[in-house]
Amino acid sequence: MTISNLEEIKCPQGHLFEASLLSAMSAADNPELKESLIAGEINLVSCPICGEMFYAECFILYHDSENELIAFVYPLSFQEQAAQCNAKMKKEFELALENFEDKHKINYEPILLFGIEDLVLLLRSEQNIEDEESILKYIAHKLSLKIIKIPPRLSRKMGIPKLLPVPKGTKELNAKVLTEGLQTLVKHNPHLLHYAELLEKILKRRINLSDIK
Ligand SMILES: [Zn+2]
Repeated sequence: MTISNLEEIKCPQGHLFEASLLSAMSAADNPELKESLIAGEINLVSCPICGEMFYAECFILYHDSENELIAFVYPLSFQEQAAQCNAKMKKEFELALENFEDKHKINYEPILLFGIEDLVLLLRSEQNIEDEESILKYIAHKLSLKIIKIPPRLSRKMGIPKLLPVPKGTKELNAKVLTEGLQTLVKHNPHLLHYAELLEKILKRRINLSDIK
């Protein structure tokens, strides 16, 4: 589901013009659109009169089923009405779920954001973690590591990668096996900053693995 609408836009200098703005997108249906979004190219408009480039503000519904992410992105100017936006989002989300055939598949809460730049920042930070996850996938076998995948909605909430390294043969995830797996991984590649950070959090008991269910 990808929806674009022709909208009237006012540039920072006050000039009016029309442009097609994206208002809903599904990353699963349009992976190339997700890439454009991460590159900061979506809803970036250029005023035909003064040439100024800026992000046109409009509501965007962003859905990435694989990463369990639904974001309601309101224009930046709505930030002062955050409470109303939050209430509206919850109501609309419930209504949407009723009409959704696979409703049992959506067991995650929507995220409220203001301004497309916040969505871009969120996706970029998740992309950075995914880059490290790709490296883990690539070297896991060589390091005799097994990968345990936790639901993306949990990893996002906890601010940790969703692919976790543990020693081969591990049956159950716990702090001991995860520490062991992370130490092996980080020793091999100290540049995996998100994994190094997770190791530190576990060693300092700043993370509760029982949250992972
Ligand atoms: Zn202008």
